[in-house]
Amino acid sequence: MGQSIMFCGAAQTVTGSRHLISVEGHDILVDCGLFQGSRAESELNWKPFEVPPSEIEAAIITHAHLDHVGWLPVLVRGGFRGPAYATPATIGLAKISLPDSGRIQEEDAQHNRRHGRQDEHPDPLYTEEDAYAALRVLKPIHYDQMQSLPGGATFRFLPAGHILGSAFAEIYFANGERILMTGDLGRFDTPIIRDPAIVDHAEYLVIESTYGDRSHSKEDVVGKLESIVAEAAKSHAAVLIPSFSIGRTQELLYYIRQLQNAGKMPRMPIFLDSPMAVSATQLYADSVEEQDQDMKIALSENLSPLDPDGLILVRDREQSKALNARKGPFIIIAGSGMANGGRIVHHLLHRISDPNTIVVFTGYQADGTLGRRILEGAKEVRILGEQVPVRAQIEKLNALSAHAGQDEILSWLHGFKEPPKTTFLVHGEPPAQQALKAKIEQDLHWHVVIPSRDQKFDLG
Ligand SMILES: [Zn+2]
Repeated sequence: MGQSIMFCGAAQTVTGSRHLISVEGHDILVDCGLFQGSRAESELNWKPFEVPPSEIEAAIITHAHLDHVGWLPVLVRGGFRGPAYATPATIGLAKISLPDSGRIQEEDAQHNRRHGRQDEHPDPLYTEEDAYAALRVLKPIHYDQMQSLPGGATFRFLPAGHILGSAFAEIYFANGERILMTGDLGRFDTPIIRDPAIVDHAEYLVIESTYGDRSHSKEDVVGKLESIVAEAAKSHAAVLIPSFSIGRTQELLYYIRQLQNAGKMPRMPIFLDSPMAVSATQLYADSVEEQDQDMKIALSENLSPLDPDGLILVRDREQSKALNARKGPFIIIAGSGMANGGRIVHHLLHRISDPNTIVVFTGYQADGTLGRRILEGAKEVRILGEQVPVRAQIEKLNALSAHAGQDEILSWLHGFKEPPKTTFLVHGEPPAQQALKAKIEQDLHWHVVIPSRDQKFDLG
């Protein structure tokens, strides 16, 4: 029977990571992500899984972003009994992000029903309760700890440098060959967390390609943030920062703190309007196993690296709504990072038509998201069913990313001592994937495949 892999999601898209590995007839799912991009893509969340969930014997979750773990509640409700292995920090973050995701879906469904939106699903994809049920199948595995899998396979996690708890899954088959699943490949020298592990061998490699066609700008993030807040202070503007609650938000807080330490940050309130980000920030501060040297030093010196002066944590909705009446200057950091859900959507609806607003994007904006439309210069956008003109100033912190850029992917691949038999590119849009494939073929002469959704490959 041997081994095979089927790409059930994140195949020529950046969301919905779900890779089904079959070992001697035993199914192991690597990641169980939500599809979050365009409408057509998110519609896939409603489609039954490729095999009955009750037949999947184990899952491995590379990290806690919803496009990697956010569909687990549906899988569990459908009959998957676990275990789903993840690092302790990933489980810590999933305890925050999954119930939050269930809650948001319940609220959105309620909103759609109230506004009679026939074009939307009347029921949530899953509820907060479904999310809690999913948390019960998660089993913690530390980095480098070997764990057996069905079919005589074993695996271990290696640090991926992407977000807190993020890991590569290095899976060994009984025949001695291995497949390395990168999940999302992080970057070297980002603040707070450890760098990605260097890997020098795998017969098969599944690697993400979000930024396969470009390298990140070398722009000075702290410098650009400094000029944005200076401008906001001068014009009493509201700064809206759509931010991924996990990872990006903590990075932003870290940089704001650096500006303050350098005396370069005007005094203004910073509203962290995301209960999930509030809890995640606490976990970042507490997870010693995950932190890099600078973060450990800053903590040991009581520099509160993730707690800038003026930070106000907004937990409940009323407090969040009350911000509508507030005059600038101030900063609101809220999820989601691509403005396709979460409280930032309400702030954008309320303020994007006001020229005295600065919207600052902090990461990748997938095709089909509100963030992408705004960033591409739409003069008018549809938000929560309302057509609103865009008059706000739009900025982007270009150098911020939790994903390796093309040059960084290539230099990480150079760590391999010999080429994998096959390198599969996932988690990218087609132009990025084509560009990365060409680059790897040209520079390394490796065999590279871009799988399409539900395509299956024999491994050895
Ligand atoms: Zn991720």
